[in-house]
Amino acid sequence: MKANGILRSLCADKECLESLTNVYEAFTLLEEIIESLPAPRLSKKEEPLIDNVANREEIKAVLSSQGISDESLVSYAISRQLQGLYPDQPWTGSSCPICGQKPTLILVREKPELTYVSRETKARCICGHEKDIEPYTCPSCGRQGRGNFEVYVAPGSSVRVYVCKNCGHRFAEIQDTGLGEKELQALHGAIRLLLREVELSSHETG
Ligand SMILES: [Zn+2]
Ligand SMILES: [Zn+2]
Repeated sequence: MKANGILRSLCADKECLESLTNVYEAFTLLEEIIESLPAPRLSKKEEPLIDNVANREEIKAVLSSQGISDESLVSYAISRQLQGLYPDQPWTGSSCPICGQKPTLILVREKPELTYVSRETKARCICGHEKDIEPYTCPSCGRQGRGNFEVYVAPGSSVRVYVCKNCGHRFAEIQDTGLGEKELQALHGAIRLLLREVELSSHETG
């Protein structure tokens, strides 16, 4: 399924589809702007890398000239750059070594082998950094097992939203059927908006 099909499957109404599509398009545009930014320089290679960017102000000024001044978007843009520069930065804990956040997307990739289909499960951070993870594992606290999660699935959707009963971390799981890097980022951005709404609605009901 392509990214726009996945978004459509998540929404019950036009308003929802519009807001998710807007976020999707904003993230797509951001990917292009990120490519034109000056490269980040690290003052030291300490984790998370985002905290040690010597020329943050320089990058921030270029983003600002493009109309982007929100600090969380500035951090997002720089973490995307860092992820591109240090794609093999190892994970030493549950927080991302690039940007310090916890993964919020699980990607299930099926690889056809000669006589069977192998499955690969990755936990992906919003900056795009990924690590291997066992199925049904919380990417924040590490608790395992299907019973550890509340699971939400929109009717007809291939996206599952998990809420960890142990630590409250919310994340989504999708089947990655060959989505491109930019498409994945935009989809992840839209899904993060959805995860925030799951949090709000669970606070309203309970
Ligand atoms: Zn990250
Ligand atoms: Zn957890």
